[in-house]
Amino acid sequence: MICEMCGKNVPSTRPVFIDGARLSVCPNCARFGDENRGNARGGGAGASPTVIEQRLERRNRRMQTKNVYDGNDNVHIVDGYGEIIRKAHTARGMDLKQFAESIGEKQGLLAKVEAETLIPDDKLVKKIEKALDIKLTEVVASGGSVGGGSRNDKMTLANFIKKE
Ligand SMILES: [Zn+2]
Repeated sequence: MICEMCGKNVPSTRPVFIDGARLSVCPNCARFGDENRGNARGGGAGASPTVIEQRLERRNRRMQTKNVYDGNDNVHIVDGYGEIIRKAHTARGMDLKQFAESIGEKQGLLAKVEAETLIPDDKLVKKIEKALDIKLTEVVASGGSVGGGSRNDKMTLANFIKKE
């Protein structure tokens, strides 16, 4: 077999990674390469670009969950929605437990929504809006500067690394 590095004809060659290229080389040349590099890629101490991209994507998704409603960039859940809900069912003479029962939802779930630690999903928002005759969403003009969308667009990889 011919060593792809030095060109010598040798009984056996082994695959190594040299500058990112996979070469079949003689045992003598193998020491110049990094045999384990293929396996080590993506692991190791330093985060590879792929790992960073994945984290960035997760982060963006998280931010979208907070800012974007129903997969539509132009419809957002209003600020203070928890307070709106609480006032609305209180005004109807229902405490949280009664309100939860009236719409067939768990009290604990609605408590989180009222505390705004949980963003209600599309279905729940519609249910609450209908039950209390309130509006929990607002349409944001497309191309406008309102909301998190524009902020996300400006977020660069450099910002992300610095913050993390
Ligand atoms: Zn060689």
